[in-house]
Order: sequence, then C-alpha cells, then structure tokens
Amino acid sequence: MIAVPAPVAQPRALPDWRQSLREAVTDARELLALLGLESLAGRLPGDDAGFALRVPRGFVARMRHGDPRDPLLLQVLPQLAERADVPGFVADAVGDLAARSAHGVLQKYAGRALLIASGSCAVNCRYCFRRHFPYAEEIAAAAGWREALAQVRADAGVREVILSGGDPLVLSTAKLAEFGSALAAIPHVETLRIHSRVPVVLPERVDDEFCAWLAGLPLRRVVVLHVNHANEIDGSVRSACARLRAAGAILLNQSVLLAGINDNADRLAALSDRLFDCGVLPYYLHQLDPVRGAAHFAVDDPRASGLIEALRARLPGYLIPRLVREIAGAASKMPLQGP
Ligand SMILES: *Cc1c(COP(=O)(O)O)cnc(C)c1O
Ligand code: SF4
Repeated sequence: MIAVPAPVAQPRALPDWRQSLREAVTDARELLALLGLESLAGRLPGDDAGFALRVPRGFVARMRHGDPRDPLLLQVLPQLAERADVPGFVADAVGDLAARSAHGVLQKYAGRALLIASGSCAVNCRYCFRRHFPYAEEIAAAAGWREALAQVRADAGVREVILSGGDPLVLSTAKLAEFGSALAAIPHVETLRIHSRVPVVLPERVDDEFCAWLAGLPLRRVVVLHVNHANEIDGSVRSACARLRAAGAILLNQSVLLAGINDNADRLAALSDRLFDCGVLPYYLHQLDPVRGAAHFAVDDPRASGLIEALRARLPGYLIPRLVREIAGAASKMPLQGP
C-alpha cells in the first residue's frame, strides 16, 4: 500500500486588501444604516473635527446590529463629546514633535527608533493620540525612506527600528521591502518591530506576498497588534495571526484603556484569553494620552489600577498587560503604581 498523504486543506483566497481598503466606510450615516441605527444620525456632530470616519467593512461586520453601545462602534463613530474643550487635553499629548530626530523619525527611548511609516491608517480611532499629528510633513517612507535610514545608520545605538502609525501596513509590500533590505544592511540593527492595527481591521492585508517578505528578513521580527476588545477578533484575524507567526514574528498586543469599551475586568480578561488563543500575548494597556477630543474615553488611575488587580486575581501573569502611561520627556513608558 502506498501511503497517501492527507489532503491539505486549501486556504480560501483572501480578498484583495487594496480593494477592501478603498471600500472602507467613510460616511457616518452609512455606518449607522449598516447597523440598523439610523435613528442615531441626529446625534452625529455636524463635521468630523478634522479627523475623518474610516472603518473597513470587515470590521463593521463584527459590530452588533442595533447596539448603539457596541464596543467596536464606539471606537470609530464621531461623537459630539469630541467638541468638549477639556483642560489638559491638547494637540501634541506625548511630546512627539520634540522627539523628532529626522524626517518621520521619533527617538524617545534608548536603543529604539520609531518611524512614522505612513500618513494614514486603515481605521481611524477616535481616541488616537496622533489625531492631530502633522502627518503630511512627517512621513518616513517619503523620498525612499532616505532621511529615516540615514538617521538609523548614523546612530549606532539603535538596535531596534519600529515602524509605527500612521499604519505601516497600508504601505505596499514593495515599499516595505525597499525599506527592509536597506535596514537589514545596517549592522547595528537587530530587530524590526511593526506596530499595526491592520491585521485586526483588515486581516486580508497579511497576504502571501507580505508574509514571504517578513519571513525572509534577516532580522528579529516583532509585530505588536492593537486590539481593545475581544469582539475585534474573529476567525479572519485568528488566521492572520497564524500567518504572521508562521513568518517568524513574535506577536504582542497593545490596548488603550477606554471608558465604555474595555474598562471592565470581564472584558479585559476575555480579551487576554482571545489573544492567547491566537498566539498573541498582551503587552501594554495604555492609559489614554490626553489628546484633544478624546477626554470622554478617559478612565482615572485608581480605577485603571483596580482593573489590573482584578485581572491578577484571575489570570496567569503572562496574560496581564502592563498598565502604562506615556509621559512627554520620560525615558520609557511609565508603569502605573498599584492601588
Ligand atoms: C512607545 C514608543 C516606543 C516603544 O516603547 P517600548 O516600551 O519599547 O514598547 C519607542 N519609541 C517611541 C517614540 C515610542 O513612543
Ligand atoms: S495610529 Fe492606531 S490608534 Fe491611531 S488611528 Fe491609526 S490605527 Fe487607530
């Protein structure tokens, strides 16, 4: 008898990510209509406060129909509360402009250089600390990454390069590959880290071409996802995580603590659990950066610390994210003290 190998399940072809990106919902009324929430349209702000609504349809499909408090919807829907002028909530909340070392390069912490890889994201999150960042002038990928690469090359202390938001994965794989080869030729760089929400909101972006590129990089690879609620993770995200891991990436997650979305121990525990199921470990739980227009998402420090204590009482240590805050001028993200 000849042993016949078991048939290998052919993965279904992924949708074309560029098309998914183009077809993202950008109109708040359409978003509400898709969710059967037309009646809320009257409560929308008259304009988008200079930060457009943008959400891929695959992410909308994970929102609960008819639920105005859906935790995914609340992350993307413009609210009247964004108009509130709250003292302490400012445009450049984390001192990004002061940390700029070259075009599109931020250096705040030892050994790491963070590149503002692109000017846009696949989703626009209302709480985003970069909603007021002057992207148009500060994109590392512009002009063939030349300035950013020159800065990294010139600074032998940089061991890790972080591609961050605007989301690096809205760039073409060809554009990333151009960067990757130049980066790999810099002897002191050991690690490439990618901060991206795209594998979550547009998992089809993690396609064969991208994974082949990532797998072939002669660098240590870390992908830090950004998931705030377990409902963001469906089978398509789980598969994207599997593909990233198969390409040799260590997967971590950062979340932002958001009032009404994940400021509850059950929800945070469910998130850690769902992440672990996808081979992703929780890394940071960020206290909201005090950015103008986002004050309604803030959770105070005692409550935030209390939530972490509650998680500690029920989860293994490796499923507890580090609760941190970014402080302009500090040498690292700052851990919050326990209660
Ligand atoms: C958050 C951040 C990093 C990464 O910090 P880690 O603690 O290593 O995750 C690096 N550079 C800048 C500018 C940052 O804001
Ligand atoms: S940088 Fe991250 S948090 Fe901000 S809008 Fe883009 S995906 Fe959302």
